[in-house]
Amino acid sequence: MKQHWLKGLVAGAGLLTVAACGDADEAENNDTANVDEENTGDAGDGLYLTTTFSITADFVEQVLGDRGEVDYIVPIGEEPHEYEPVPSDFRNVSDSAMFITHGMNLEEWLEQIVENASETPITEISEGIDPIPLDEEGENSPPDPHAWLSPKNVDTYIDNITEMLIELDPDGEEEYEANAEAYLEEIDELDQFVEEQTADIPEEHRLIALSENAFKYFGEDYGFDTEGVWEINSHEEGTSGQISRLIDVLSEREVPGVFVETTVDSRYMETVADDADVEIKGELYTDAVGEEGSGQETYVDMIRHNAETIVEGLSE
Ligand SMILES: [Zn+2]
Repeated sequence: MKQHWLKGLVAGAGLLTVAACGDADEAENNDTANVDEENTGDAGDGLYLTTTFSITADFVEQVLGDRGEVDYIVPIGEEPHEYEPVPSDFRNVSDSAMFITHGMNLEEWLEQIVENASETPITEISEGIDPIPLDEEGENSPPDPHAWLSPKNVDTYIDNITEMLIELDPDGEEEYEANAEAYLEEIDELDQFVEEQTADIPEEHRLIALSENAFKYFGEDYGFDTEGVWEINSHEEGTSGQISRLIDVLSEREVPGVFVETTVDSRYMETVADDADVEIKGELYTDAVGEEGSGQETYVDMIRHNAETIVEGLSE
């Protein structure tokens, strides 16, 4: 089954060259050639790659190691569902040896870049992950993209990234495989940490409620129900109907608290918490790693933070 959101542009996991668009990009590249020399996909000093957001950039960096450099498009603090690309984004993608997307209905803004970037090949690193439907429509529903929030899906991303890097840079094969193996050991420990930490939360408290119902994959893997004001940020409305539905759900459960996201306006959940008479128990990372200096600049740290915050919030 293939995602249909970029039908005809992205064919499965295969690499494909996006049609060149034109003069504007070429002129841009010529202008910046002198200052940007290291930032070309095939530069002598390593690979240059661009991903769509900070979490997948961290995954790529872990495997890439010292053999290149990776940038991401959506700044930390903004969410990757809806984004307005700026000229430097087009330039970065054009200069990259590969444009690395997540896929699974995440980047709804991607077409703008794909249509305007130069001949940069594009790949989707979620290929092979078993999708959970976004909403109740089941089979007719697009997938929920937030698979990264469960550490149990990370091996699929890392395998796809490793394969892609070896194809781009065969000389690095040994290094990429060693990096991937070491990182997956770390992810294994992270998975055990989450399982151990969350094991003692009482059954009736095992509900993660947020503005965006982004924890479905985490919930399925670690035994939590999940709820949101809305299902995905690109459908964000925060209507009074959506808010009162969540308040009703919470009043039927004995949960001590709800959560807010680092990348979503917290006012919706403040209203929910007030009306349902529960506390906001902390901030969770969903669609970006932490800002510089937060202590959660990497995927592993952000997931540890999430697990600790959930345990603290729901254990009492
Ligand atoms: Zn999201």
